[in-house]
Amino acid sequence: MSADQDVILPGATLGVLGGGQLGRMFVQEAQAMGYFTAVLDADPTSPAGLVSHHHIRTGYEDAQGLAEMARLCAAVTTEFENVPAAALDLLAQTRRVSPAGSAVAIAQDRAAEKAHFVRCGVPVAPHALIESPEQMAAVPADLLPGILKTARMGYDGKGQARVSTPAERAAAWQDLGGVPCVLEKMLPLAQECSVIVARGRDGAMVHLPVQRNLHRGGILAVTEVYEQNLPPALAAQALAAAKSVADGLHYVGVLCVEFFVLQDGSLVVNEIAPRPHNSGHYSQDACDVSQFELQLRCMTGLPLTQPRLHSPTIMLNLLGDLWFAQGDAPVTPAWEQVLALPGCHLRLYGKRDAKRGRKMGHLNVTGATPEAVRAVALQAAAILGIAPF
Ligand code: ATP
Ligand code: MG
Repeated sequence: MSADQDVILPGATLGVLGGGQLGRMFVQEAQAMGYFTAVLDADPTSPAGLVSHHHIRTGYEDAQGLAEMARLCAAVTTEFENVPAAALDLLAQTRRVSPAGSAVAIAQDRAAEKAHFVRCGVPVAPHALIESPEQMAAVPADLLPGILKTARMGYDGKGQARVSTPAERAAAWQDLGGVPCVLEKMLPLAQECSVIVARGRDGAMVHLPVQRNLHRGGILAVTEVYEQNLPPALAAQALAAAKSVADGLHYVGVLCVEFFVLQDGSLVVNEIAPRPHNSGHYSQDACDVSQFELQLRCMTGLPLTQPRLHSPTIMLNLLGDLWFAQGDAPVTPAWEQVLALPGCHLRLYGKRDAKRGRKMGHLNVTGATPEAVRAVALQAAAILGIAPF
């Protein structure tokens, strides 16, 4: 057996590039299984850095920081999709890195991402790449109304503008700094869903059940997972598409594929995230293997067993807005009232300052039936000031 096929067992140190909440939950999962952890993030108060055994406080491209990461860790993963792919490639010269820089590079660029979907035969929204005023002028009229999205560095609806006319389109491109963009036709959405797959070094894949997602203002608000949350044929189609996207990338690690369900019932892929995803957080409390454990199993070469959903569940995202329900001074939400409800699992990310639009935590609600879960989730939402869904 070559060294590359060796399993990295508990007691080893695992590294993560990025110190956000996804890194924090990975670190917590790894530590629960007896691994040591190292986080690389320049922010001294990063959510993952605060709970990790080692915290390397440098930028992602800092040669010394990356050398320290390689020295400490048997394997490295990423939690932040805009980590420079070159940093992953550099680490991969001496350490096991998953996902690979080449796969992350595709997920970082909407144009490359869409080209990959097309290669995999998965339907995408009609779109055009815009890198020059000439390309802008040549955009077909039927892409309007549309959404202009920067090709790189967008998240949570940032770097996007909704445009209805050619004049609006040109102004929005200027506002976005004239950087390479993708103009996507605005589609009539009936629903949104996502799938999380985990693919090992040997190509074996397991997956979480298909998630039904509600976005508000471009940010995930609610995820619902239970039998019949989506028509089974549609869920099967989404899962098959997600698997072919992962296979096409020769992906190793956890990959989330986001989809639109159109009003005619058809499925269109939106984008991928090369890491655990907000829409998979329910797996911490409703599945026997969480998305963070899947990430750990992929990077260490531990076996991938098919996760099982053992409880219907609804996840509510807890944005900083909830702290400002009573005015401009932040007030801690009434967690004790929420936790008095059955089956509520509160996950906060240790961020000191609440800001509007900032992801502060999430609440996983589990229960015996989808109806019971929904009733409790709606009660929790009412207590917290989250609009009903
Ligand atoms: P994320 O935080 O998921 O990375 P993002 O900033 O990359 O978000 P998108 O996923 O592209 O943004 O879009 C955010 C949301 O905006 C979608 O989930 C959907 O609700 C809406 N949206 C995006 N593109 C379209 C479209 N072509 N037609 C209709 N709605 C869209
Ligand atoms: Mg998205």
